[in-house]
Amino acid sequence: MSKRDYYEILGVNKDASDSEIKKAYRKRAMKFHPDRNTDDPEAERKFKEASEAYEVLSDDQKRQRYDQFGHQGVNGGFRGRGGAGFEDIGFEDIFSRFSDIFGGGDPFGGGGQSRGRRSPGQPGSDMKLRIELNLEEIAFGTEKKLKVKKQIKCEECNGIGAATEEDFETCSTCNGMGQVRQVRKTMLGQMVNVQPCPDCQGEGRIIKKKCSKCHGEGRYRGEEMVQVRIPSGVSEGNYITLRDQGNAGKRGGNPGDLVVLIEEKEHEHFERDGNDIYYDLVLSVPDAILGTEVKVPTLKGKAKIKIEPGVQPGKLLRMKEKGIHGLKRSGIGDQYVRINVYIPKNLSGEEREHIEALKGNDHFEASNKEDDGKGFFSKIKDVFA
Ligand SMILES: [Zn+2]
Ligand SMILES: [Zn+2]
Repeated sequence: MSKRDYYEILGVNKDASDSEIKKAYRKRAMKFHPDRNTDDPEAERKFKEASEAYEVLSDDQKRQRYDQFGHQGVNGGFRGRGGAGFEDIGFEDIFSRFSDIFGGGDPFGGGGQSRGRRSPGQPGSDMKLRIELNLEEIAFGTEKKLKVKKQIKCEECNGIGAATEEDFETCSTCNGMGQVRQVRKTMLGQMVNVQPCPDCQGEGRIIKKKCSKCHGEGRYRGEEMVQVRIPSGVSEGNYITLRDQGNAGKRGGNPGDLVVLIEEKEHEHFERDGNDIYYDLVLSVPDAILGTEVKVPTLKGKAKIKIEPGVQPGKLLRMKEKGIHGLKRSGIGDQYVRINVYIPKNLSGEEREHIEALKGNDHFEASNKEDDGKGFFSKIKDVFA
């Protein structure tokens, strides 16, 4: 279990520069190279040891992890988020892919402290969950209850893994320090190597009598209801971080976070454009010509609108502030009703006669010579002016 310190192996200081490390490695590699030391297992071991040390110390990232966590930081035990229980690295990764609805790192506000806070056990991992929302929920905001399968803190032992404090004993390997220190004299001076204690995983104590419910883990797999408030105006890809609602930590470790990802369901009536929504209204020919009053769906039930006589297909009617309540008070969107006219295909003989009687009549002539001189398409644009 006790591995030699990489700096010590190469005989360099902890603050050695890259070139110093390289030089030191080359010196050792030459000295212990198997080609020069045939049938010398000790030389071979030293050669391998130096190579391993160099591999870690020559890589900025690995070196940083090694400095922070020792051998566990760079060898197999380092399984990323929540795995070995050490790291923050990679925590930001999942976030960088989604825009953060609160902007400016707010969801991490305070997180800096809680992340850095030392806790006895191992921290729980973060979790990610998707929820589908319909436009009505998005428009006004909503509250959701989610059933989450996760590691739950054991209520029997309050997460510590044993019924009482008396069920623990001080780790004899590290005398309760949680760390093991190795001090060695080298040619370059005294080298101190501090590592988490391998026997108690840095906790400084060992359980004599484990909690019967969680078997000493301080947590168990279960299901929990989690409540999340969704503000109005969110979009697909936004997420909300519920701090400390992820997996419970092991034996008193800090819980992870629960990240709720927003997905937007397609609506049967509406199309969304930012905070505005669009609705297609199909009128009959007589209604379009004579005008009418119709009920249209809105995000809050039906509403009556007046159709003026002679409304043109493609025209947009604006229903002020019937759209989505924007995120962070960015205003309320509108609902647009897009007019369409249904042209019948099959006519009875009598209907046909009526239509034919209209042919050639002045007001039924298709013409771009409207009284205001504007064509059909410029009319549509007027709405946005
Ligand atoms: Zn220990
Ligand atoms: Zn328990």
